[in-house]
Amino acid sequence: MNNNIENRILELRKKIAEYDYHYYVKNNPIISDFEYDSIYKELEDLENSHPEYKSETSPTNRVGSDLSKDFPTYTRQIPMLSLANSYSAIELIEFDQRIRKILPENSKVEYVTELKIDGLSIELIYKKNKFHLAATRGDGTTGDEITANARTIRSIPLEVVSNLGDFSVRGEVFSPKNIFLKINEEREEIGEKKFANPRNFASGTLKLQDPKIVSERKLDIFTYYLLSENNIFQTQFENLTQLEKLGFKVNPNYQLHQNIQQVIDFCNEWEIKRNSLPYEIDGIVVKVNSFEQQKILGNVAKSPRWAIAYKFKPEQVQTKLLNITWQVGRTGALTPVAELQPVFLMGSTISRATLHNFDEIQKKDIRINDFVFVEKGGDVIPKITSVNFEKRDKNSEKTQIPTECPICKSKLSSNKEEVAIYCTNENCPAKIKGKILHFCSKNAMDIDGLGEAVVDKFVDLGFLKNVADIYNLKNYQTEIENLEGFGTKSFAKIQEGIEKSTQKPFNKVLFALGIRFVGEGVSKILAKQFQNIENIIKTNKEELIKIRDVGENIAMSILSFFADERNIQLINTLKNHNLQFETKKNDINSNISNKLEGKTILVTGTLQNYSRNSIKEEIEKHGGKVATSVSKNVDLLLAGENAGSKLEKSQELGIKIITETEFLEMLQ
Ligand code: NAD
Repeated sequence: MNNNIENRILELRKKIAEYDYHYYVKNNPIISDFEYDSIYKELEDLENSHPEYKSETSPTNRVGSDLSKDFPTYTRQIPMLSLANSYSAIELIEFDQRIRKILPENSKVEYVTELKIDGLSIELIYKKNKFHLAATRGDGTTGDEITANARTIRSIPLEVVSNLGDFSVRGEVFSPKNIFLKINEEREEIGEKKFANPRNFASGTLKLQDPKIVSERKLDIFTYYLLSENNIFQTQFENLTQLEKLGFKVNPNYQLHQNIQQVIDFCNEWEIKRNSLPYEIDGIVVKVNSFEQQKILGNVAKSPRWAIAYKFKPEQVQTKLLNITWQVGRTGALTPVAELQPVFLMGSTISRATLHNFDEIQKKDIRINDFVFVEKGGDVIPKITSVNFEKRDKNSEKTQIPTECPICKSKLSSNKEEVAIYCTNENCPAKIKGKILHFCSKNAMDIDGLGEAVVDKFVDLGFLKNVADIYNLKNYQTEIENLEGFGTKSFAKIQEGIEKSTQKPFNKVLFALGIRFVGEGVSKILAKQFQNIENIIKTNKEELIKIRDVGENIAMSILSFFADERNIQLINTLKNHNLQFETKKNDINSNISNKLEGKTILVTGTLQNYSRNSIKEEIEKHGGKVATSVSKNVDLLLAGENAGSKLEKSQELGIKIITETEFLEMLQ
């Protein structure tokens, strides 16, 4: 029994670590906050009822970290904490009871409620009333220093008039809904992945290296906390008013309450009104008003005991499922898609939702004509969470697994280990279209002008039967130029894109071939390791799995791809069209030299010939490793102009320091 509990705890910790990584570091959550909070609560409950399994390193003991390697770190004295969560009135009442137990008997407790803006928190440091530095929350104590990016936020005053001297202000950076929607629309048009929500958008933007782009994205901030040595106020309410007086932007909807019932009413009111705001909120923050009481209450592991976040439940809408269609991908895998009666949800109209696979349909017993609940999960793609069985038509029929490909009517296959079903016909137009689209996509051959609509058309008209036909499109010049919506200009643009693609490095070509499990990363590794296609074709399993990042599945997939004579023929045809099938000296990820082999180099200050990213690339191209902080593992410190504390620390550790000129000489 206890073994099961321990295993479950370990499993939950592992899952949470993975979700945290996607959420905080990649800015790309893979589950919804609601789902995340439920498993988090399960872990917390298990750890509380089985303290013998508590661990310092459990995620319940630390603030989720957004730290990245790309910015200098900033260390603060007073950590920025997270907040405990609650989802119901009962939990708010329990919060009130916990507080009253700790405070002296019969204390009067006032609460301040503030809208919980769905963004990310940052701290602004002011020195002598002037804006000096901005840093993200990071892991609470250390954050990323993002001053230049914060400076682009117009509502942050660069100078204030006060007698506070040095002080700091904490607040939430967010993206107004209209800006977020507009940028997502633009990204969709150019085929880039959309941001999941305004929070991910804001946090991804603040971590960009180019303040000019940050500025274009028009982030905004609501501040909620002023920290200074000369604090003259005693309550959170006064604190907020003081911030307003100083010229900081404070969300105007904060309110003072005399008891927890008033707080609950406020939460209920905003749960209904939340959509009327021009920015997203994901709940209400409830804070004990008196600073003296806050001090008595103190903090638990990673959040203050005097505050709690009341989180809104994820928004769900009900709509009718009109049909279930099956999409065929480039590998032939069939994915069910729910065709819905259009319905508005969180800023956009939804008419389709993913159903993942047939197993999911069976588990949830989803049928055509059902009324279903739709929710936006971690990703922007909506999903069906459940069926409203009360509204089910008596005559409805169980959804059946398809027996033939919806596109080419060929037989389907499925294998026991996988939930997916596949179309087995190599000439299925859906597969051909998928393969060609993948080949032309931005991260593969990046052929401008060959987007989804054009590829669909060219396949249907018989101009394209496989990816190699792209290089024969010139034979259809007259036909294409005469097509509706096309002309000499668009044909020339397509040709230009095709011509350029012949210069794409080998690793891109390898990725473009669309070998199952061989993504961009593995393609780079293979291109570097094997140098040319012939070496890959003649390799074997043992050799493949020796390579880091290549496991059994990838190896088997590569071998079976090259065992297929049709793929070899395709490669030969592409070779005749002059595509790159060997790694060249200047290809991004192939080493130019080994001059820096075995050397770990840390860079500080401003360099004349390199940007932050390009120096990293340069070091790696010559076989070196880039360090992100001073430690005894660093061999060399490359110091540019205005080098700061890293220089001092390196001197203390006796690390060899070189100038940019010396670095360039090393590469000669
Ligand atoms: P949180 O977002 O639940 O609450 C704390 C944060 O609220 C503060 O740090 C601050 O940024 C913000 N905030 C907004 N308005 C505020 C105000 N007026 N006063 C004070 N703070 C205010 O906590 P978190 O630590 O930032 O994130 C944890 C949450 O993130 C989880 O509960 C979960 O919902 C979500 N999460 C989701 C995933 C996922 O995969 N979906 C993964 C990790 C975390």
